[in-house]
Amino acid sequence: MLEKLIIEKSSPGRTAYSLPECDVPVGANRGSRDFRGSLPDGSLAGSTLPIPERFLRKNTAELPEVTELDVVRHFTRLSQLNYSVDTNFYPLGSCTMKYSPKVNEDVSRYDGFVNLHPYQNEEQCQGILRILYEIEKIFSEICGMDVFTLQPAAGAQGELVGMLISRAYHIKKGRRRSKIIIPDSAHGTNPASAAMCGFDVVEVKSNSQGLIDIEALRGIIDNDVAALMLTNPNTLGLFEKDILKIAEIVHSADALLYLDGANMDALLGIARPGDMGTDILHLNLHKTFSTPHGGGGPGAGPLGVVKKLAPFLPAPGIVMNNGLYNWQYDMPDSIGRVKPFYGNIGIIIRAYAYLLSIGSGGLRKIGLNALINANYLRRKLSGYLEIPYGEKCMHEFVASTRKLREKGITTLDVAKRLLDYGFHAPTIYFPLIVADALMIEPTETETRETLDEFAAAMIKILEEAEKSPELLKNAPHTTPVSRLDEVKAARKPNLRWQKQT
Ligand SMILES: *Cc1c(COP(=O)(O)O)cnc(C)c1O
Repeated sequence: MLEKLIIEKSSPGRTAYSLPECDVPVGANRGSRDFRGSLPDGSLAGSTLPIPERFLRKNTAELPEVTELDVVRHFTRLSQLNYSVDTNFYPLGSCTMKYSPKVNEDVSRYDGFVNLHPYQNEEQCQGILRILYEIEKIFSEICGMDVFTLQPAAGAQGELVGMLISRAYHIKKGRRRSKIIIPDSAHGTNPASAAMCGFDVVEVKSNSQGLIDIEALRGIIDNDVAALMLTNPNTLGLFEKDILKIAEIVHSADALLYLDGANMDALLGIARPGDMGTDILHLNLHKTFSTPHGGGGPGAGPLGVVKKLAPFLPAPGIVMNNGLYNWQYDMPDSIGRVKPFYGNIGIIIRAYAYLLSIGSGGLRKIGLNALINANYLRRKLSGYLEIPYGEKCMHEFVASTRKLREKGITTLDVAKRLLDYGFHAPTIYFPLIVADALMIEPTETETRETLDEFAAAMIKILEEAEKSPELLKNAPHTTPVSRLDEVKAARKPNLRWQKQT
């Protein structure tokens, strides 16, 4: 049943709680937060109102009149309608919807962090500066890069900064290069970031194994290419095993190798992009490093580079001299600031707490468990779902529901039916090179039992597709609203309560 709006539950005269009559003179000791002056009944007439008359409302606000229990039940029920990693399995491929330990949330809320102001001077902020300085070193160590900037607010902004740096690098060398090469399996933000920087995007095809076609790459690399943007493991969940050869081809034209590190979960403690010839790399702290992902909250997309690109990083950098941490503004070749202050600090603190708590041994376990979980699930489903590429996968895999087409069943139908079984749907229709794609990423934080339950639900749904396809066609059946017109829901959302007349 659809939960009514709180205002629809209103009944005149109901109140949340009642207090005894006030036994001191009203208005005698009003603080600046007092808004009783806005009551339209004039009960405070004659006293010095904290709010100028012209700002006072003419009529009483139309607020719901409900009991305290009404309020508690209403909002508790609404909170339970949210789908979240805290309640259920969330195998959204490429998004790494893993569980982020609550202790890292707690740490980021310490008074010492929360009460800092970005305009405080460096002497007063040595603690946070030290954290920023150290996490740059930790990221550099994990990824094999030389220097990081923590400014970008998301992966996509990291990409943009990486593209700006690529442009600055070539301009410094006295040349303008116009092209960025991007594989056909890439995330949509990659070509968007390149285009925003004024580059032309040249697509390189994947081969029959779902990897970059090396010969095709050789065919398009020339002295007009600024960089290759690559995701590794790629969006099919496959490791680009020719990465060293790819780096060599790119570097032979003095172009740069940009690595989209959104899939870094798969490599943690196992391999380092910097050791594979990567020149620029972004991380998504809201995917890999303990910030809950989704809900539109802040994220962070730190960007690492090799030494020769460090001068172009956004200013200010951070340096340590004689045990004191300072901002470094003297960076004449910097592309400039890309974010007010120094990025989304709260997200960086979570990552710092996470990394210190797991240590390097823990990091490797995370990487290995991400691979084991994905391969376990892949194996469980491989007899039921078509999985077009490879025998093994990294941290995710891409299946296809193409065979259900003849029954009139779409990938969307399968995804919607999963909701009835209590699971969030995987990413669908991406990457574009797999028809009817279901991209499944279980992450390392799930137990074997959860993976088994998910596999069982998926297998059941595929049986339903054979025997009772109508169950899929109209799914979901158990959610507060059923199948939405998604375009209309996005373009014309109905968020406003209107009084019934
Ligand atoms: C998520 C993702 C991005 C974009 O990152 P945001 O932090 O969402 O901006 C880029 N590339 C890949 C492969 C991704 O999965």
